[in-house]
This record gives sequence, C-alpha cells and structure tokens, in this order.
Amino acid sequence: MPRLYLHVAVPAPLRQHFDYSIPASFHHAPMVGARVLVPFGRRELVGVIIGISNQTDTPVEKIKAARQLIDEHALIPPLMMELLTWAAHYYQYPIGEVFSAALPTLLRQGEALYENMNHWRLTHTGIAITATDLKSAPKQQAAWQALEVHGTHGISEDFLQHFGIERASLLALAKKGLTEEFGQIVNKPTKLQLKYAEVPLLANANQEAAIHAITKQLGTFKTLLLDGVTGSGKTEVYLQSIASCLANHQQTLVLVPEIGLTPQTVARFRARFAVETVMLHSGLTDRERLRAWRRAYLGHAGIVIGTRSTIFAPMPHLGLIIVDEEHDLSFKQQDGFRYHARDLAVRRGQLQQCPVVLGSATPSLESLANAKAERYQHLYLHERAATAHPSTIKLIDLRNQKLKDGLTSALRDAIAQRLKKQEQVLIFINRRGFAPVLLCHDCGWQAKCLQCDARTTLHRNPLRLHCHHCGYSASPPRHCPDCQSTELRAIGAGTVRIEETLQELFPKVPVHRIDRDSTRRKDSWHNLYADIELGEAAILVGTQMLAKGHHFPNVTLVALLDTDGGLFGADFRASERVAQLITQVAGRAGRAEKEGLVLIQTHQPEHPLLMQLLQTGYSGFAEAALPERQAIGLPPYGYLALLRAESNYPETALEFLQAAINLGHGLAHEPEYWGPVPAPMEKKAGVFRAHLLLKSSQRPALQRFLTEWLVLISALPEAKKVRWSIDVDPQEMG
Ligand code: ADP
Ligand code: ZN
Ligand code: ZN
Repeated sequence: MPRLYLHVAVPAPLRQHFDYSIPASFHHAPMVGARVLVPFGRRELVGVIIGISNQTDTPVEKIKAARQLIDEHALIPPLMMELLTWAAHYYQYPIGEVFSAALPTLLRQGEALYENMNHWRLTHTGIAITATDLKSAPKQQAAWQALEVHGTHGISEDFLQHFGIERASLLALAKKGLTEEFGQIVNKPTKLQLKYAEVPLLANANQEAAIHAITKQLGTFKTLLLDGVTGSGKTEVYLQSIASCLANHQQTLVLVPEIGLTPQTVARFRARFAVETVMLHSGLTDRERLRAWRRAYLGHAGIVIGTRSTIFAPMPHLGLIIVDEEHDLSFKQQDGFRYHARDLAVRRGQLQQCPVVLGSATPSLESLANAKAERYQHLYLHERAATAHPSTIKLIDLRNQKLKDGLTSALRDAIAQRLKKQEQVLIFINRRGFAPVLLCHDCGWQAKCLQCDARTTLHRNPLRLHCHHCGYSASPPRHCPDCQSTELRAIGAGTVRIEETLQELFPKVPVHRIDRDSTRRKDSWHNLYADIELGEAAILVGTQMLAKGHHFPNVTLVALLDTDGGLFGADFRASERVAQLITQVAGRAGRAEKEGLVLIQTHQPEHPLLMQLLQTGYSGFAEAALPERQAIGLPPYGYLALLRAESNYPETALEFLQAAINLGHGLAHEPEYWGPVPAPMEKKAGVFRAHLLLKSSQRPALQRFLTEWLVLISALPEAKKVRWSIDVDPQEMG
C-alpha cells in the first residue's frame, strides 16, 4: 500500500499547507476536515486536514508524524471546506488562519467537539501489547486489562472507576500511546419540524408577495434583496419564510449586526417557533459558544442567529440564509482575515443551493447595483406595517443660532412639547464622552494624544482625557502646558454633556444615555430596554448604537444634533454612510400609531445630500449616487484592494509600498494604483501608517494579479521592516 500523507492547514501566517505522515497510534482513518495535532517547529499546533494523498513535495526524511487525531469526523464538512478555501483565496489570507478564524475558540485550541469525553479505549499500539509488557506498573496493567475486554469500542470512565481504575493510570497509558480518551457521539438524527409557539401575524399584501418570492426559491440558489423602509415588517417576512424552511425540515441561518444591541429582534425569532434556536455572538463565554455551535453543527438547531462569524457555522440541513441590515459595516471584519460576512453568505448560498435574503431599509450600493443588474431579485416593502405612518423630516438651520450645549431653542421647544404629551424623545450625537476638545482660551493649545494624530476627548467620572483611537489616557492638566494659563475650556458636546444639559432642562424626566461607555455592563442595556418599554416620557441620548433596528413604539421625536462632519468625509463612501445613518436613526421615530417627527440640526441646510434625502428618501439618494460611482469606476462598478503598511518611521511604510508598485509593473492584469499616501490618520497608537489603493475594472483580473503580487511582496526585503496587510473589497479607508 502506498504511504499516505496528511496535507494540513496550520494556523501560521504562511500561504501554504504542511505535510505529515500518519502514525500507527491513530485510532481512526483520518478524514479531510478533521482536526489534527501536529508538531510545528518547537510547538504543537491544531491544524485541519485539507487533503490526504500519497504525494508530497516535502523531502520524505523531513516529514514528521502527526501527533494526534482530534476528530473522528469532518469537523469542517466538505461544503464548508469549499467555502473556506474559496474565502482564503478571495481575501488573500493564509488558509490555516482562515480555518482557525472559522472555528469557536475552544475547538481552535483542540478541545473535543463532544462534551461527554470520559470514554477510554486502547489504541492500535495498545491492542498489540500483552499484559506482561506492563508488569512493572501494576495499576496500569489493571487498567489495560479492563480496557482490553472492550476492544476498540471502549468504555466510560465511570464504569472503569467501579473497578477501582484511576484516571491517573489511564492518563499514564495515554502518555505511552496505549490508550486514548474519546467522546460518545450523541447525534440521534432528529428531523426538524415546523412547530409554532405563537400565532403568526397576518401578512399584508406586500409582505405576502415578498414571502412568496422567497419561499418559491427554497431548494435553489437565489439572492433576494428585501428593500423595506424602517418599520415595514421585514422581520415578519423573515419569520414566515423560516416557517416554510422548517416545514421542509431545514435549518435557517440569520446574520444580524450586533446581537447585544438588538435583543428585541432575537426575542421575536425565539418567541415564534417551538424549535431550538441558538445564538452565536461575542457576549457568550467560550463554553456557551461551543455548545451553540455544536447544536448548529449537529442539525439540532432549527434557527441559528448570530453576528459576522456565524457565517462559518456548519449546518447540515441549511435551507435559507438571511442577512438582516445587510448594509451594516459590522459584517466586514476589519483586521486579520478581512472577510465580508454578507458576501460570504451569498457565496455559501450558491454552494448550498439555497436562497439568500439580504434585508435593509438602506441597502448598500453594492446590493442595489446587483439588483439593478438582475443578479439579485429586488423585493420592496414601501409602506410601514401595521398602523404606523412615515415620519416628517425637517431641518433646523444652525447658522446664527444661539446654542445651549449644541441644542437650538427650536429643538428644546420640540422636546418639551413631546414630553408634555408623555412621549419619548431620542437625541442622536455621534460622539461619546463629555467634550471632544479641551482648549486653552488664551493661546489655543488643544489636548492631543501622544500616540495618534488625534485630539483626546474629555470624560467625566472620573475626569480624564481619553484617546478614542488607542488606549492612551491622562489626567487633564490644570494649566495650559504652553502658556500656563488656567483658562482651559471643554469645547463641543459629547453624549455625557448632552445628557447633563437635558437633565438640567427637564429635571422631572429620566434621561438615558446609550453609548459604549454606558452599556458596557452586560445587563445594563437589558434594564434600559425594560424602562423604555414602559413607554413613559423619557429622553434617550446616544450614539450610532441607536441606529440599529430598535423598535421603541413611544418615541415620536428624533433629533440629530450634528451630522455635518459626515457630509464632508474623505472616504468615497462617506455620503452613503451618512444617508444610511440619518435614515436609520430617523426610522426610530413614530413606529406605532403616533406620528413621528425628525429634526436634523445642520449648518448646511442647502447641502445637496440633505436636500435629496428630504425630497426623495434613501432610494432617491441611491439612484443619484450610483451613476456617480459608475462615472469614476468606484465600487460597485470597480474593484478595490487596499495594501496597508505600518512602521515606526513614516518613510519606511511609504518605501515599502513604492517597492510593491515596482514589483507590480512586471505582472499581467496590473491595476491602477492610487498612492502610496499616508493614511488619513497617519500616526495611530504610535506607528505610522500608509496606504496603497488598487483599482481594477475586472474582479477576476484583480484576483489574479493579487495572487501573484503578494507572493513577490512577501519576499521583498522592505517587507521585513513593516507590518503589512491586504484588504480585498475594503470598506473603510482609515
Ligand atoms: P422592520 O424590521 O422592517 O423595521 P419590523 O419587522 O420591526 O419592521 O415591524 C415593525 C412593526 O410592525 C412591529 O411592531 C411588527 O410587529 C409590526 N408588524 C409587522 N408586520 C405586521 C403585520 N403584518 N400586521 C401587523 N403588524 C405588523
Ligand atoms: Zn495656553
Ligand atoms: Zn491615541
């Protein structure tokens, strides 16, 4: 029989796999997709078997034996294997790291998939010896004899303990390669069933049409863009589509931006069906995460809801994928393996042959372009469901206005009116902390971060300056460091200052602040929700955390204090982001019977983007924005990759990028280069960052170029002096 080698993807920053031989101690025939413990340099790493063959490029004398086979089955089933391999190639990221990122932490560390390990059996080596071989160790000998009776089936540790066999003896035998611990598979095949826990709503005609369009595609691949204004009842469309999927005995995968922020949505999925529904998100402990993942993997969970990385959860009976708030930036991983979960969802649907639903009130221009080109089916929900009406949007001109900590008198009056009617008010300001600037009134000095090109934000309780871009923080000085003046002033307003001001203005009404500082504690958001749901007069002040799909029925006034910054962002997506943010925040108003009002304070009341949004809404904005993108060949009509470099010296990063361009000149399918340039914030956390943007009109051409180019770049001498990374389809240029 020819000798077989394992081709193993190990979590190392190398764009290749490694070959190992199969030791006699393996109890099972290794399978592709199983984890295996392998020696790697001086360490042992958990890798994934991506192939088994009698071929190897490694000199045979250099090949080491794998240490231990962790899984008897493919932990990564063939279809997921294909998705991950594709993703590693598409995002130009080492395959071993991709597998690693796709697995829950405990599995990545080599933990068994099954909880009830506690079973023992002899290995092949263990079976081959005789009792006399162990006569110098009587306890081990007894353990061996107890196990020998059960052959390769093994027996539980509890059972062995009845016979006085200690764990220590079993472990001692394991060390000699004679025994191994294993888990019992509790995978009784269960067939998923549609079981309701509550009566579904009666879908309106638009919802009915969308549900029909989606469920018609079950069993085949099709991407459908569910384009529905805020409050139009997209969730109900998801739920009724899931019902059909369950009736087909299949699982549904639902991706959401941030579960911690949208407990209501998750609760609605749980409430509808008497079917196991699991969640995967960052709020779980590693153990909880593994448990949920296992339920998905075994096919027990009918509905799997989770954030970005849930796209990697294997689901043997997957029949439907839903991406809620598909425009949300949180679906893009911003470091390491920089995948886009929405885009992978579409790819997964294609491999799995199941429909993919992308839902949003403010679809990304990428998805809208795909719908226009009829690659996606465009479904509309134009009207708010139930009895809610669209809100009225008005601008408040900030020019020549007297402000009280950022609030115009018109806005203060509007707030007072709503509170008098026992309604709730939501104030949006995209800055946390007390004040964004600490300024010397005498000489103009401003408090800055020592490690970044950025100002520090003043925080209260405790009083400190914090940099929002790195971990830097310091006590605010008493005197100006430049002129010794004591006239230091906090300029501008963050959420904390607005909260204080509003509390002074409306002392009888509770003011709740919602930002990353106030919701850090696990249950704080939950308690806040309970308070808001009581529906009594209240003011909510918060950052973009408020823009995420919340349903506060008694909020009738939404105010945006200062969105002008976004109107002039350097990133070509700035206007798209601002339009989405304004529309989403505005969408929190008037979601029940009472009519909503949205007030936008601005210094730019004639700004074309604001005019457009006011007159035509987000869809009109998008209609106008798409041809602009097309004219300059930017996404979705062009394809980008961003090469980032950072170093302790500004020139070093730029030199590396220039050297990278020089290498590209020799290759086919060369893209356009924009740069190299220093990053928008050049110095961050003490290092200097530079960018090189690549633009191509063809996605496959860019892919081919990148694959060749990155191999050359890795070998550049300059590459050793910088930290560099490639970002395919970058979403943020920062
Ligand atoms: P979206 O996700 O599109 O913002 P939701 O799904 O949260 O909207 O629905 C908004 C509100 O309308 C919810 O309170 C929901 O219960 C209600 N709703 C949705 N569909 C219907 C329907 N067919 N009949 C009655 N109420 C509905
Ligand atoms: Zn000064
Ligand atoms: Zn900083």
